[in-house]
Amino acid sequence: MSQKSMIIIGAGLAGLSTGCYAQMNGYESRIFEHHIKSGGVAAVWRRGEFLIDGGIHFLICHKPGTSIYDVYSEIGAVGSYEIADMTTYLRFIDETSTKFIEFTNDLDKLTHDLIQIAPEDEDEIRALIREVEWMKDSPLLTDLGMSTSPPELKGRLDSLKEMWQMRSFMKYFTGKFSKSAGDYADNNIRNPFLKTVIRNLFSPDGPIWFVIMILACVAAGQLGLFKGGCHEFVNSIVERYNSLGGQIQYKAKIEKILVEDDTAVGVLLSDGTEHRADVIVSAADGRSTIFDLLGGNYVDDKIERRYKTWRPFDPMVVVSLGVAREFRTEAPLTVFVMREPLKYAGREISCLPLRVFNYGDAFAPAGKSVIQVMLETDWEYWYNLRQNREEYDVEKKQLAEEIIKRLEDQYPGITSQVEMIDVATPYTSWRYTLNDRGSPMGWMITKKTIMELIPRTLPGLENFYMAGQWVLPGGGVPGCIYTGRNVVQILCKRDNEKFKTRI
Ligand SMILES: Cc1cc2nc3c(=O)[nH]c(=O)nc-3n(C[C@H](O)[C@H](O)[C@H](O)COP(=O)(O)OP(=O)(O)OC[C@H]3O[C@@H](n4cnc5c(N)ncnc54)[C@H](O)[C@@H]3O)c2cc1C
Repeated sequence: MSQKSMIIIGAGLAGLSTGCYAQMNGYESRIFEHHIKSGGVAAVWRRGEFLIDGGIHFLICHKPGTSIYDVYSEIGAVGSYEIADMTTYLRFIDETSTKFIEFTNDLDKLTHDLIQIAPEDEDEIRALIREVEWMKDSPLLTDLGMSTSPPELKGRLDSLKEMWQMRSFMKYFTGKFSKSAGDYADNNIRNPFLKTVIRNLFSPDGPIWFVIMILACVAAGQLGLFKGGCHEFVNSIVERYNSLGGQIQYKAKIEKILVEDDTAVGVLLSDGTEHRADVIVSAADGRSTIFDLLGGNYVDDKIERRYKTWRPFDPMVVVSLGVAREFRTEAPLTVFVMREPLKYAGREISCLPLRVFNYGDAFAPAGKSVIQVMLETDWEYWYNLRQNREEYDVEKKQLAEEIIKRLEDQYPGITSQVEMIDVATPYTSWRYTLNDRGSPMGWMITKKTIMELIPRTLPGLENFYMAGQWVLPGGGVPGCIYTGRNVVQILCKRDNEKFKTRI
């Protein structure tokens, strides 16, 4: 292949992945990233002696022997950082009673413990855990449907072939396991505590099969925690990209994608410079790419409908605390069912999720810890508040104080041990990643969105491609990496070249 040039917008995981595969397949690529570092939503930042990991909670398929791990290997995302097996996914503690449940990798114990707290739901508990067992041993778990081709690569028979391969998974598209976790819990679980637990294992709006999949990953030993923070994963891909000859330009915000005769030919940066390439790939926010950078000139009914009616994951407000205290025996994630609901930013919630970074030494000096509460919230609330900086700062401070007060119930004395408070709102997230309404993971996975294969191209526009969480509902690390790979596979097919990878 004669060397062609590629410009990639965004150095998140999808942009980096696109870049690595582009370099492996003879493209000379450059990534333009508006922030000062790579990673996008996989973000880690320092506050004094504390390291705050505000990104990836766990890495799916972190061990060799799966097709997803092979893909991580191709882009250099293995081996250069420390990762711990996540043997406990979540611990639930009900403050109003003595009830306690822990979701570990031991499914027999989990079944036993769940039946203990909700004997009236024994049949449903067994049915649910049977699904986890099934998923754990299914080849789907180590592929997660990622090898499903994007629409541009599908031949006539491919859809039929994929349907055949996915036939055992079809039960998750109809029936009770296709429901959202909230609906499933409301309709199938009788015990009030277990209902709350099931609703909050991931998100009440996400499908229950997604929860089954996460529990199966834990049981199969295929969820990993970044002991040094998720930036180490990102940096290993950056190194791979650089070693393949790719270049990243930081503080480089794209304002416009240049188009001539319905062909993407380059980009205009906010500093006024223009850069040209044979192929332009946006691995940035979908809405701003399509409607701002391209002026909404390349949309069809499907795209219009998607951006009008689909719901992105709710943004988060993230309260991180540096504490002069150790949390040696805590699970990495605990959800407290609170005595009194917590009112914040126009919402009221009864469950407080606490992330404890006690699985690595990088987050805090000896004897101290970083802990974090991440709450779903509303974009408009924080955006409007941010128009008045003083009020915005007061609200952040009050929320942090309220959370510390709540934690005092569980960890007496913690208030006086707090040495660092950091509050990141959806506005913060938008400012650094430019994602629509500060969304952390792109489109919500629902029964409807998962069925729609989003093309990596736009109608009527040549030499332009999209990768990342806005072309794959649910986003996620493996998914976003695959979308970058897909773009280069499509290009190779277009160019009649064999798609090449190397480790
Ligand atoms: C808190 C949190 C926890 C998560 N936990 C997990 C998990 O445990 N497991 C999992 O698999 N997934 C998890 N995810 C999801 C996963 O991290 C994301 O789906 C994935 O990293 C998104 O990558 P991306 O490259 O598609 O998008 P992004 O990370 O959003 O990258 C887009 C990049 O484009 C840049 N950009 C945007 N506009 C422009 C422009 N105009 N010019 C130049 N640059 C631009 C942005 O600055 C950004 O760097 C989590 C996400 C969050 C936020």
